[in-house]
Amino acid sequence: TEKYEKGLEKTRKSFSNRMNELFANFRTVDEDFFEELEEILIGADVGYDASMEISNALRQEVKLKNAKSQGEVQQVIIEKMVEIYEKDNTEKPEINFNKDGLTVILVVGVNGVGKTTTIGKMAKRYQTEGKTVVLAAGDTFRAGAIEQLVVWGERVGAQVVTGKAGSDPAAVVFDAVRQAKKQQADVLIVDTAGRLQNKVNLMNELEKMKRVIEKEIIDGPHEVLLVLDATTGQNAMVQAKQFKQTTNVTGIVLTKLDGTAKGGIVLAIRKELDIPVKLVGLGEAVDDLQEFDPGEYIYGLFS
Ligand code: GDP
Repeated sequence: TEKYEKGLEKTRKSFSNRMNELFANFRTVDEDFFEELEEILIGADVGYDASMEISNALRQEVKLKNAKSQGEVQQVIIEKMVEIYEKDNTEKPEINFNKDGLTVILVVGVNGVGKTTTIGKMAKRYQTEGKTVVLAAGDTFRAGAIEQLVVWGERVGAQVVTGKAGSDPAAVVFDAVRQAKKQQADVLIVDTAGRLQNKVNLMNELEKMKRVIEKEIIDGPHEVLLVLDATTGQNAMVQAKQFKQTTNVTGIVLTKLDGTAKGGIVLAIRKELDIPVKLVGLGEAVDDLQEFDPGEYIYGLFS
């Protein structure tokens, strides 16, 4: 779609420039060709393992299909990337909604990655779909976080349940669940603190919030979404590993894809973490949030 094309412009430009260079000197698919391709993929943050898998698969595929022309080779590359990404991706990268009753979505991630903005965008989308959304201001730690969420709530017409600054986030979540149930709301989205300086405390806090949700709602949070900033590249990968160790992350939201030329990070995350990327942020505006579609994404890189 247009959104994808616009949001991925930087990645596409840099990637296709390099691919064009590669093909400008294209004569045959030899070892030099594959080595240069590996460099381009790694440079786009596709990750070392994924890059090697792609180029190795291509070596075989090019032989098998006897691809010779630039067009043929390019087609093989695209198909292979889609296949590698989708291979171990049996679950559809969709948000898991509760079929009957309240859906609770816990949103985690370190400060600055775009957590609050993502929550606002999600709230807007679900409200537009006719769902009733309640937001819980579970980041009681960072100055301004509560206020920021309240502003988003007003903007998109969602009720925001807040506590005092510094108060127990689990208590806020408790109130929010009660409130959402009372209103017969469809979706409760819970913002959480993102201070990574104090990892142990943060992880304990997230656990406690989860327990409150589990106690109030039999099947617990339906999603624990980890928000990562695509522009931070391998740093995002480190954060993901830390959260994965202690929290049962069910999906990833990758923000700011529009702000990086290294959009290949999506593939690296999938490959190395085995957590589906469910949503991607492609801009600062309220409707710049998209379901992640691997095929469309990869075709977008080459268009
Ligand atoms: P939080 O600290 O994780 O809650 O981060 P915020 O939601 O406050 O976002 C931090 C900054 O990133 C803000 O300036 C947002 O407008 C910006 N931002 C969030 N998502 C995106 C995105 O997908 N693309 C771009 N370009 N900016 C984004």
